[in-house]
Amino acid sequence: MISLNRITALLFSLLLTLGLAGCGEQNKSDTATTSTAKVETIRWKMVTTWPKNFPGLGTGANNLAEKINQLSGGRLQVKVYGSGELVPAMETFDAVSRGTAQMGHGAAYYWKGKNATFQFFSTVPFGLTAQEMNGWLYNGGGLELWQEAYAKHNLIPMPAGNMGVQMGGWFNKEIKTIDDLKGLKMRIPGLGGEVLNRAGGTPVNLPGGELYSAMQSGTIDATEWVGPYNDLAFGFHKVAKYYYFPGWHEPGTSLEAIINKEAFSALPKDLQAIVLNACKLANHEMLAEYTARNNDALVTLVEKHQVQIKRFPDDVLNKLRSLSDEVVAELAKKDAFSQKVFDSYSSYRKKVMAWHEYSERAYLNVRAEK
Ligand code: CA
Repeated sequence: MISLNRITALLFSLLLTLGLAGCGEQNKSDTATTSTAKVETIRWKMVTTWPKNFPGLGTGANNLAEKINQLSGGRLQVKVYGSGELVPAMETFDAVSRGTAQMGHGAAYYWKGKNATFQFFSTVPFGLTAQEMNGWLYNGGGLELWQEAYAKHNLIPMPAGNMGVQMGGWFNKEIKTIDDLKGLKMRIPGLGGEVLNRAGGTPVNLPGGELYSAMQSGTIDATEWVGPYNDLAFGFHKVAKYYYFPGWHEPGTSLEAIINKEAFSALPKDLQAIVLNACKLANHEMLAEYTARNNDALVTLVEKHQVQIKRFPDDVLNKLRSLSDEVVAELAKKDAFSQKVFDSYSSYRKKVMAWHEYSERAYLNVRAEK
């Protein structure tokens, strides 16, 4: 297996080669015209759905921008804006689509109002894990479908982060049966929200920065966010008693970088390659960061803050799974393109699940055996 460091080293050497090739041409034309010509600096704005510098997510967007700045040798400089700095979180998609900013960082399920099918490109309840999602997007036809979907909106999407399996959320009452979800006003985005709706709850879609005060004031009864690393940073343990798992609704959410098509087309080829490959690096690095940091944060939540961790009962999860199957299947019937995305996703999910019975799950089970 090739390590990430090795891949990074290979990428740097590839980019170095491209950069040198570019310099060669530049020098040739400089010699023919003037000796004072200098390399042009292109400046881009990146708007995000995250609070500025928020651990993991905001810093993940910063990391992507820094990668582009570094790999381009400063020729393409990307400035990151937190939610609300240039546009509100939920206007990220439109801002990049119309060119107010050249790039954005967020998640496709935030834009379900534009097209409900976009949600397949972030996460589906009881769907793919982070590892499986990367397989579908990079090697299973998923990214081509995603690019087709966003092309109509003048955007190029790239996977640009993943947090792994999330937690189920913060509650102030115990969830013992499916009826305990009735009347519950919970922040839960995407298709998971629709599943909660069918279970009798009221889903609310709020950006992360508003969740703590919404829990504190009682505007919402419960919230999910991400996992221990991010949830500790927001301090949800101060406003909720129980921390439930597993995150059935977000088993491996793919975050996105979105790029304005005209801005991308205007770049020279080597800078285009740098932008796309920087997204790949940022995608892998975020998952590595979350895998390492969630562990420590979980210990802090339990040992320092005495958070009560609870598992959703099997009956509740079984009911949520059957409601999820209904919701996802109905989404596929919306139009021909939705059906195409659903068919690609479902057929990959079926095959990868069969393989992971023998590989990931079999190994994790045997490792846990005493
Ligand atoms: Ca979440």
